[in-house]
Amino acid sequence: MNNLPVLSYLDEFRASGPAGRLLDRLHRRPERPVRIMEVCGTHTMAISRHGIRQASPAWLRLISGPGCPVCVTSNYDIDSFIEMSLLPGVIAASFGDMLKVPGTRMGLGGARARGARVEIVYSTLDALRLARENPDCKVIFFGVGFETTAPTVAAAIAAARQSGASNFFVYSAHKLVPPALSALCRMPGLAVDAFLCPGHVSAIIGADPYRPLAERGIPCVISGFETVDILQSLNMILDQLDSGDCRVEVEYARGVRPGGNPAALEMMNSVFAPCDAGWRGLGTIPASGLTIREEFAAHDAARVFAVDASYSREPAGCICGAILTGQKIPPDCRRFARTCTPDHPVGPCMVSSEGTCAAYYQYEFQD
Ligand code: SF4
Repeated sequence: MNNLPVLSYLDEFRASGPAGRLLDRLHRRPERPVRIMEVCGTHTMAISRHGIRQASPAWLRLISGPGCPVCVTSNYDIDSFIEMSLLPGVIAASFGDMLKVPGTRMGLGGARARGARVEIVYSTLDALRLARENPDCKVIFFGVGFETTAPTVAAAIAAARQSGASNFFVYSAHKLVPPALSALCRMPGLAVDAFLCPGHVSAIIGADPYRPLAERGIPCVISGFETVDILQSLNMILDQLDSGDCRVEVEYARGVRPGGNPAALEMMNSVFAPCDAGWRGLGTIPASGLTIREEFAAHDAARVFAVDASYSREPAGCICGAILTGQKIPPDCRRFARTCTPDHPVGPCMVSSEGTCAAYYQYEFQD
């Protein structure tokens, strides 16, 4: 693993103007071990795709955190949704990534093979349209994701209530990023020196929710997704560590306002309330999920459909949980690239287009 030609990456970066200059800045810094965790699946992919890990100095470790929405969704939630999909008269609507995630007994694809009607949708509003077009069916949308997607799901629930679409339901497995980062910092033995904070989530929540982390001495830089953004953000983090002045900085200023997006937050908070949530790898974290408020309970699949997924368990030999908490990397898994590949994934980190195992397999692995 990691035997890709490092020099060619460096040469490529150095020939490419701003990225090369930022990379040189990284290499000119004094050597000391630093671990920076990215908590956005898009950053994970960009770091792998552009060879940023290989091109960075050896003393700088870039580790992935719980930033992939599909990956952090617990098997309990996945199994519960699959059980719902098997109920008579139900149309299960989900984003495509979820279809290939193996549940404990079967995945959504397997449920479809057993006769469940499973539809891939590209937005929550597509799922709402499905409900309107199929008034005799109950459409259940699998609400997965972070603060980025929750406002649009909230808008669909509000629209369903307003338009009387009583056959539209959401199974909410949404997660909130800041409580997970705080929980990570409390994990014994986990050494994270700084966070490369997510651009999309921060476009909604702004910079303030990360301040408690900075106050604990952990630099937080909200980064964009281009190579130059990420290299600039890494330098900003290292500047903070050098000066000892830890704070929240926004590198992705073209996409993130310090106060976030108040309209989206208002929509999200009007439909959802914080709740304890189970994360793959992190366990249950207080107030880290979103439940549908009482006012919209008629659209809450968890209240309306009674299913039993108490049998849920993690796939045998899969260490996605340890990968999502930065304790392991994909090549540490004995199934990686052997019995677990994108064509035959065992765990969600290999399925998702934002999963760390998929990123390593696609861009950092050579047989
Ligand atoms: S390689 Fe596959 S089995 Fe191993 S941690 Fe990744 S997803 Fe799980």
